Amino acid sequence: MMTLPPFEFLAPSSINEAVQLLHRHQANAKILAGGTDLIPSMKNKLFEPSYVISINRIDELKSIHFDALNGLRLGALVTITDVGHHPAVTENYPVLASAARKIATPLLQNKGTIGGNILLDTRCFYYNQSKFWRTALNGCMKKEGDVCRVAPSGHRCYAISSCDTVPVLYALNASVRLVSASGERVVPLREFYQNDGMNFHTMKPDEILVEVVIPPQPQGFRGGYMKLRRREAIDYPMLGVAVGLVMDEKGICKDVSIVLGAVFSCPFEVLQARDILIGKKITGKEIEEASQIAQDVAKPMDLTNFRPGYRKRMVKVFTKRLLESLAQGKELAD
Ligand SMILES: Cc1cc2nc3c(=O)[nH]c(=O)nc-3n(C[C@H](O)[C@H](O)[C@H](O)COP(=O)(O)OP(=O)(O)OC[C@H]3O[C@@H](n4cnc5c(N)ncnc54)[C@H](O)[C@@H]3O)c2cc1C
Repeated sequence: MMTLPPFEFLAPSSINEAVQLLHRHQANAKILAGGTDLIPSMKNKLFEPSYVISINRIDELKSIHFDALNGLRLGALVTITDVGHHPAVTENYPVLASAARKIATPLLQNKGTIGGNILLDTRCFYYNQSKFWRTALNGCMKKEGDVCRVAPSGHRCYAISSCDTVPVLYALNASVRLVSASGERVVPLREFYQNDGMNFHTMKPDEILVEVVIPPQPQGFRGGYMKLRRREAIDYPMLGVAVGLVMDEKGICKDVSIVLGAVFSCPFEVLQARDILIGKKITGKEIEEASQIAQDVAKPMDLTNFRPGYRKRMVKVFTKRLLESLAQGKELAD
């Protein structure tokens, strides 16, 4: 049986109380939101914190607020079910709701939160295993060892970002509000992550993510998200592609964002595609070129389900399908 390591359980009832506790215990503590990732990871002894700080009693982290001027604010504890079904999201950001509904299963969506999804640990075949399995191999760079089992001559960890909402939040230009005992800051998601499986975000150990802020989208915006997985439920993404496209009334592309998930240790925006698409009427030629570039820049490694070559080819397939639909004015939300 997989057991939890020993820890002291703390349950503050305000953000202030939570940040004071985190300030006191810093790297010896872990924040518990829905626990759908933290608890299995603790059972696998990937994390053995002395203190678990549950933020579930803090009601202000559960709020959802939308207004046309400022956009959408989702408290860190808003569940994935609410992101997938709340009218403030489905009516104004259907692509985000659609990505949330593709996460895991309804039971996990009921427990899992948007904050936990944004901070979901990076994943890899060699890391997400029991301690017994990992130590039989002498561990890996991310835990118990010093070599990356995926790229033994590499100098960093290649574990992949596997959160479904994040490529979409990137394409929507979202930011996160972080609070610590010394103040607060708002960080655009594009500056929040970095391509390193061990240090995949820039949040400090004494900070709590309190809110996600999504600005109103420009006139003519449409978005789509496609996810590659073996089964149509439960599975983490083996690839996720999010596209946000802004077209003017004459059918000219004003802005575009193509973001790849589950390829690198953080979401990756295909910036080269912008030069191909912006300022043009999007025809088959532009779509072919932009989706080929997305495939060319994707460098999936052999650390999850499906062969890397197949995942790479699917980058082009998904990007092409999304651009074709969105250029015709169809939001891809299921
Ligand atoms: C079988 C299974 C399938 C899954 N499939 C998918 C999938 O398809 N797609 C997907 O994206 N995810 C998937 N997940 C992962 C997970 O369920 C979701 O990512 C979920 O949104 C995580 O949220 P949580 O509240 O449960 O996070 P938790 O487990 O509570 O926390 C995750 C991490 O974030 C930190 N954290 C959480 N909230 C905060 C905060 N407010 N401030 C600071 N730190 C915080 C925790 O300390 C922890 O390190 C799956 C999980 C399982 C078990």
